[in-house]
Amino acid sequence: MGLLFPDSAVVVLGDQNTVEQIKNTVTKRGFEFVQVQSLQLGAYRLQKIHTQLIILDSDYPEFSREGVDLLFKKNPKVKNIPIVLLTRSAGKLSDFNSDSYQNIEIVEKSRGNAVSREIDKYLEPSIILKFWGVRGSTPSANIEQMKYGGNTTCLQIESPYFNEILILDSGTGIRNLGNEIAERINNQASGHLFITHPHWDHIQGFPFFKPFYLNKNSFKIHMPEQYRGGTEEILAGHMTKTFFPVTLDMFEADIEYVSQKEQIEEYNGFTVEYMVANHPTKTAMYKIQIGGYIIVFAPDNELSADPSPIRFMDKFEHFISDCDLLIHDAQFDRETYKERLGWGHTAWEDIVEVARRCNVKRLYLTHHDPDSTDEYLDRINKKLESYIGNPFREIELAKEGAVIKLPLTKALQKHQV
Ligand SMILES: [Zn+2]
Ligand SMILES: [Zn+2]
Repeated sequence: MGLLFPDSAVVVLGDQNTVEQIKNTVTKRGFEFVQVQSLQLGAYRLQKIHTQLIILDSDYPEFSREGVDLLFKKNPKVKNIPIVLLTRSAGKLSDFNSDSYQNIEIVEKSRGNAVSREIDKYLEPSIILKFWGVRGSTPSANIEQMKYGGNTTCLQIESPYFNEILILDSGTGIRNLGNEIAERINNQASGHLFITHPHWDHIQGFPFFKPFYLNKNSFKIHMPEQYRGGTEEILAGHMTKTFFPVTLDMFEADIEYVSQKEQIEEYNGFTVEYMVANHPTKTAMYKIQIGGYIIVFAPDNELSADPSPIRFMDKFEHFISDCDLLIHDAQFDRETYKERLGWGHTAWEDIVEVARRCNVKRLYLTHHDPDSTDEYLDRINKKLESYIGNPFREIELAKEGAVIKLPLTKALQKHQV
């Protein structure tokens, strides 16, 4: 039992005293401990290893802001790795409060055992969700959209209590997930893929997922039955020789195609049910219960203001009520939505309002319009900050590469399992 990618390391820069203290916390949690002597060397090591957390002592002589910038420059993945900056005085590090250092947390060393506690928070066993694609409708590979990312929908869920991989949707983002599996664990992975619906942006990465081409692997592919066929027929339809050189029978892995029912289904370590979305084809909004958490994934769903399908809204509100995490379509703002009625997508203002009413704890908005630039999305994200508070512990736009952690210890206490 363990995480799919168990070989994560914690990289530390600091004097011997600090390092010894951190080493205990890190090794107790079973992570590899990597000490570096300078940020230049750190930048080099980070290219070679997979990193869970970076800890830098800013009072150490080898520390500098230029050095931190070098870490980001040499390895683009660093922007998605949490970095803890230790300091005797937080005031000295105000430079790091800007938007470009969003993944940096400053921790003052003077506060008792704050350091160990803070570090442990990042390492405690958690359900981990990772966004591999957050773009809606079609991939958009433009430089002005790279901060939020251009790949279409794909989400991975990991739990330390099972070895299987759990994936939601196979937009173009799934290709990078497959590449990571190929690189880190020899392409060996088995598990479940839950597809919300077969619109292009949710299946275009499907044939590019490398673990499908290894015969030791086995996968179950789930999707709601469509009006024109079951999961296998639909996927086979977009992989005929006319559209693509690879057909389903060319996969080496053992694959089972499942037409998913709306009822609660139990799997090894989690349960899944779904509600049909308000969207132009039969589309699932999946509700997953895992590790004591309730997660709802609804990347394509229209909350229409007028005319309001009252029964749908009642059912939807009941479905998301009190959930720990909702990942929902917010392709438009209210202004744009007026011109896109019936397209099957939602304005961010509307889902925020509904989620707030339904006591959703964490809200991540996704399926960004292919024409939305980083600048535009940053403006929305800024507005979302003002909603933090009851009930939202977290509310933000989903970014490609971003990770959500749901600590298991707290969930287990909460549910007394
Ligand atoms: Zn979509
Ligand atoms: Zn769709």
